[in-house]
Amino acid sequence: MSHVPPMSHAPRTSMLHVPTPSNAAQVVPATTTSSRTMNILLVSPRTPDTFWSFSHVMRLVGRKTAFPPLGLMTVAAMLPRNWNLRLVDLNVTALRDDDLRWADAVFLSAMIVQEPSAREVITRANALARPVVAGGPLFTTGAERFPEVACCVVGEAEDLMETLVADLAAGRLQPRYQAAERPDIRRTPIPRWDLVDVDDYLTLSVQFSRGCPFDCEFCDITAVYGRVPRVKTPARVVEELDAVLATGWKGAIFVVDDNFIGNRARTKELLAAMIAWRDARGATCNFTTEASINLVDDPELLDLMVRAGFKNVFIGIESPQEESLKECRKVQNTRRDLVASVRAIHAAGMQVMAGFIVGFDSDKPGIFELQRRFIHEAGVSTAMVGMLTALPGTRLFTRLTVEGRMLGRSSGNNLDAVMNFVPRLDPTVLTQGYRSLVGDLYAPRSYYARVLVFLRDYRPNGPRAGLRGDDVLAFARSLWVLGVVEPGRWEFWKFIARAGIFHREAFAEAVEAAIRGYHFRKVAATL
Ligand code: SF4
Repeated sequence: MSHVPPMSHAPRTSMLHVPTPSNAAQVVPATTTSSRTMNILLVSPRTPDTFWSFSHVMRLVGRKTAFPPLGLMTVAAMLPRNWNLRLVDLNVTALRDDDLRWADAVFLSAMIVQEPSAREVITRANALARPVVAGGPLFTTGAERFPEVACCVVGEAEDLMETLVADLAAGRLQPRYQAAERPDIRRTPIPRWDLVDVDDYLTLSVQFSRGCPFDCEFCDITAVYGRVPRVKTPARVVEELDAVLATGWKGAIFVVDDNFIGNRARTKELLAAMIAWRDARGATCNFTTEASINLVDDPELLDLMVRAGFKNVFIGIESPQEESLKECRKVQNTRRDLVASVRAIHAAGMQVMAGFIVGFDSDKPGIFELQRRFIHEAGVSTAMVGMLTALPGTRLFTRLTVEGRMLGRSSGNNLDAVMNFVPRLDPTVLTQGYRSLVGDLYAPRSYYARVLVFLRDYRPNGPRAGLRGDDVLAFARSLWVLGVVEPGRWEFWKFIARAGIFHREAFAEAVEAAIRGYHFRKVAATL
């Protein structure tokens, strides 16, 4: 389920994925030094305004952007210790020419959706004759489109870094580094949290696994990361969590896995370790992750997640229509009552955020109303609805190419209401239906009504953190912005009153939902 927003998914870390030794005796590049000291500038490009950017939430919560560039921070941890590093996240600050001049090389990691900003960085670095080392999904799936880049890292970086570092230091950087196989992520080092200011971010991130056992036709995860989930040891994840706590962080942590429950036995071991870790450290953070709907079939797993502090889980539901699910081979979603599955997760104490897709070959003009009804009945307040996109490397891309239906490359933003292939449904019907669906879902009245459906089914459970100063401030700002300044004020006050009277135990979740809804409404208005 997870990855960054390829279709309906969530924010994965863009990366030059990183490495870790499968046993401690093997390479931990961060412990090595190089005979030549170099200055490395790590740059994370700007992310455009999408549902996942949460950009409109920032003014209410007093942060600059949603997620830190975990991939770059992990790559940084693989560079020689005697190299000087600077990290510039363009979602937080501007890139100065002085930074580029300071650098001997610029490491750039980008998701497909960040292409415009990545291209700007490449142009500026090239103008100052700074070699760019580029990685992450944008370059992994399209390195040939960037002949101006000095060096592209294709695939996960862990097993390539030693050679790349040696070549860079020796002045013989190659145009392409491509891993022969997928790395063992037990060897991946702990990200360099010292390179960012955590207070700039809404949520921090850790990663437990890569890969997913399923094989949905539109998804590039299995092509890039494989169908056999690779996991870190519980001890290593606990070390990573300790590193996050050491920054002083007390808030939300996103476990940025493709599918957190891809290997359920290993996930349960991790969860047991996380529960013990919470108790030992008195940790107050809460977790969000991505998983497949079969989570609901394993009550023990569900219970462990709630006890470990998971409050939200992103699930790719994609469609309430069985034919569409079969078409894209979303087998785990078929032959089940999806509304009941979502409600069961809510009742266990976790909120389901979900991805939906329109534009499957099986979709008829009635699909928009089916989606609307399903999302409301299931009480999915955070419904990321996108149009089907054929990403490079997917089976969908191959099929549509064979059928002669491809129109162009995807922007990586499945919310931009632009299809990159010829759909079966009339394109005008599809685009208008999509816009109208998203607009309706986030109109204040229907949005707040949906959150109330969620609150009706939700049973707050698991560890609960007390209110922090930041929460009080965010609440005060939301009262001002949503209750005084913005349209939809009356619906907001009615919602807050009902949540306060009937759902006091979940009032924090109600306020969070109102804040997220504001962002979705703003993004929906731009479609
Ligand atoms: S293959 Fe399917 S279940 Fe797995 S990550 Fe991709 S969309 Fe999610």
